[in-house]
Amino acid sequence: MQPKSNIVHLPVYQPGKPIEDVKRELGLTEVTKLASNENPFGCSELAKQAIMNEIGNTSVYPDGAAVALTDTLASQLGVGKDQLIFGAGSDEVILMIARAFLVKGDETIMADETFAQYKHNAEIENAAIIEVPLKDGKHDLPAMLAKVTDRSKIVWICNPNNPTGTIVTKEELDVFMAQVPASVLVVLDEAYCEYIDDPSYPDGVDYVKAYPNVIALRTFSKIYGLASLRIGYGIGRPDIIRFVNQVREPFNTTRYAQAAARAALGDHAFVQSCRDRNAEGLRYLQEQFDRLGLSHFPAYGNFVMFDAQRPSAIVFEELLKKGIITRARWTYYPTHIRITVGSREQNEKFIQALEQVLQEVAVQA
Ligand SMILES: *Cc1c(COP(=O)(O)O)cnc(C)c1O
Repeated sequence: MQPKSNIVHLPVYQPGKPIEDVKRELGLTEVTKLASNENPFGCSELAKQAIMNEIGNTSVYPDGAAVALTDTLASQLGVGKDQLIFGAGSDEVILMIARAFLVKGDETIMADETFAQYKHNAEIENAAIIEVPLKDGKHDLPAMLAKVTDRSKIVWICNPNNPTGTIVTKEELDVFMAQVPASVLVVLDEAYCEYIDDPSYPDGVDYVKAYPNVIALRTFSKIYGLASLRIGYGIGRPDIIRFVNQVREPFNTTRYAQAAARAALGDHAFVQSCRDRNAEGLRYLQEQFDRLGLSHFPAYGNFVMFDAQRPSAIVFEELLKKGIITRARWTYYPTHIRITVGSREQNEKFIQALEQVLQEVAVQA
């Protein structure tokens, strides 16, 4: 038996180490996971209540079209109801976009390095992957534009970029959009947009309104704190959304996810409080990296990538022994670590552990 030849070499996704595994393996009682950009403040109480209210309907299929959630979100965003598509996380929207648009021979352009799911799903569809190196940790949009050919189908822009955390500005995106052919779909992955109030950060909804070839992706996994429910969405022109909908599984988002997402959209106080506490945490971490003489990329989401100036695999292991799970081993950044902004207490615990590790591990020349 042979699978599709193009998937044979694909790795199985390696998630951030689960807390329970780390506790067991290292005999630790307290472990802090700052590896997967999860919300350290949990989720809205309204979302929890909405899940409880759905428990009695567990035996009934969800509304495949997510009508109630679509209504709420469309009016909040100021877009048409036919401009939204929901997925089991925005990961599934990425999968559906690849499934709907890419065939063998198509080219798809992305940064290197960036969120792994663009490449992963494009490889499954047998598309040719064109990776364009980051420049100072940022998307190099002019270089990406230069790679566009008549075989190009999708350009993926991760904004802010995971793992580096840098953003593409309005000005940069405007120049890019003015030149990219309308036949090329531009995916703006905005998983962290709700954290950002920098005026130079572009709002994907504006670009969906201005251009026929844009789809913006957002998620309930990050600021809304609903990662385990698996729900995210895409915003685009109705014709693009229709194509993506055509490849969607009938019941791809659950009742709990839809109900909790809808409730979470209404809890503006929770979102604001997460945004404020995250901004405070970002400030704290960046100040501490400066104090320790460690450079870092400018951060906009709920994570920071910094240069530990030592092999990141070793720093990762040493932090792990002190009960802190981080993300390391980036292809082009062998001494960098990506750290999620935690609660104040978690951030302080991390900095304490990092200071000790920096003393224990020799600087890489
Ligand atoms: C977390 C993340 C996502 C998706 O998360 P889901 O849980 O699948 O919604 C998408 N893109 C980026 C860049 C992310 O960091």
